[in-house]
Amino acid sequence: MTRPIKAIVHSKAITHNYNQVKQTAPASRAFAVVKANAYGHGLERAARALAHADGFGILEIEGALALRRWGMQQPVLLLEGVFSQSELIEAARQNFSVAVHEPGHLAWLEQVTLPQPLNIFLKLNTGMNRLGFPAEQARDLAAKLGSLSNVASVTLMAHFATADEPAKGIEKQFTRFQHATEGLKLPISLANSAATFAYPQTRTDWVRPGIVLYGASPFDDRSAKELGLQAAMTLQSQLIAVQHLQAGDTVGYGATFTADRPMRIGVVACGYADGYPRHAPAGTPVNVAGQRTRVIGRVSMDMLTIDITDLPQAQIGSPVELWGSEVPIDEVARAAGTIGYELMCAVAPRVPVHEG
Ligand code: PLP
Repeated sequence: MTRPIKAIVHSKAITHNYNQVKQTAPASRAFAVVKANAYGHGLERAARALAHADGFGILEIEGALALRRWGMQQPVLLLEGVFSQSELIEAARQNFSVAVHEPGHLAWLEQVTLPQPLNIFLKLNTGMNRLGFPAEQARDLAAKLGSLSNVASVTLMAHFATADEPAKGIEKQFTRFQHATEGLKLPISLANSAATFAYPQTRTDWVRPGIVLYGASPFDDRSAKELGLQAAMTLQSQLIAVQHLQAGDTVGYGATFTADRPMRIGVVACGYADGYPRHAPAGTPVNVAGQRTRVIGRVSMDMLTIDITDLPQAQIGSPVELWGSEVPIDEVARAAGTIGYELMCAVAPRVPVHEG
């Protein structure tokens, strides 16, 4: 028998979640963001589940080319632009849209000979201070791009730093964008998942949802379920051993958990080398044999331990859900001091992926 851990990816949930975005922002077109191997779900599987998407947002041109090979003909936006001048030629050949975010890109566009003009997303920095030209340059840059024979169209693009945090919001960035681009008659793309759900004014020509497609919430105070989303991944394993403890016995490395009464402990074939967060503390939720219980003791490389004292039905071979529809990935992430994004992306290559 092979080691029982697997990641089950639910294509239907990805399709459903995209449709939830479209219901939320019916007047916008949506780039399904499938970067980072579709947030760990597998690019091809996710892309096929999203075959009806208005477009795709991705980082590497290799992934964008794969989308074309699989028959996806819709717009593909290279979210970080190209990484060399020669990629511009390939992007134009494949009719990819390209984010332009720094002066070197403009120089490339002026110099290169392209098979056909490109659709450009002019990335403006409105306060995130990661990628983009200062928003106040929008007018000049749009005029400049509009004058280049290599440019077919210009869309204005910005990215929010705190759309997922209601206390911080988007107002400052949104206002800066509005002032800087007032009067420009160009299409606009602003919203990630959080903005799409929380700020109707950001549902412009194109929205760019990522995390919600995979059934996790970008918000601390609104669950995926409240947003009408379905978990796209179940990380599943089994109990491979059972231990009986007396009061005073400890569990695992560092002896960080001490039993205060006689306990039954289940050992699960899942550890940090599978992508489960090592920092998940005692109390992190897990589901075994259909019942919710908690991690106890330190997560080790290949195993973790859970409390099955009150779950007599939990036996060697019982199924364990580390996250999925019963245990939201956001709850595990919160317990471990991280975000669902990181857990999804960190599922290790040694974990086999199955279709759900
Ligand atoms: N747009 C851009 C430019 C991004 O970098 C990302 C991801 O970080 C997204 C959209 C999607 O963000 P989210 O997964 O929060 O919806």
